[in-house]
Amino acid sequence: MSFLPAIPEILRQFLKRPATNIFPAKYLPPSVTKYLQSVQEGKTSIHPPVETPPNFRGKILYDRDTCIGCKLCIRVCPANAIEFLPETKRVRIYVTQCIFCSQCNDACPVDALHMSDEFLLADEDRYSENMIVE
Ligand code: SF4
Ligand code: SF4
Repeated sequence: MSFLPAIPEILRQFLKRPATNIFPAKYLPPSVTKYLQSVQEGKTSIHPPVETPPNFRGKILYDRDTCIGCKLCIRVCPANAIEFLPETKRVRIYVTQCIFCSQCNDACPVDALHMSDEFLLADEDRYSENMIVE
């Protein structure tokens, strides 16, 4: 099989700028852990990620004051990422469980749920404050 028909596409790809960028560092640091520590200490900064596109589905935002406790979001969530809190009649969302499908946002009758453009969600503890929305 000849690869000649693919040559124009190969050349086009060589000339195109990449759609992604190297993240979090422009060049691979000798130690990623030390690099991230120095970012935390403010001694260096991360190589900024590419901008998120419109309607990006990142970490969920929850307005508990608007929520009416109807549980519709729980019923539609395919990942069982939402728990009902009977004491307060509000919900708790486990970000590590969420698959960012946005179905809960569509189902909520009072618009209490939204998808943000936050996607830097790595954490060593799945139950850390950053990983739970309530
Ligand atoms: S975005 Fe999808 S997976 Fe995440 S909490 Fe909502 S319904 Fe569940
Ligand atoms: S669907 Fe909306 S109003 Fe109903 S429990 Fe979920 S967040 Fe609250």
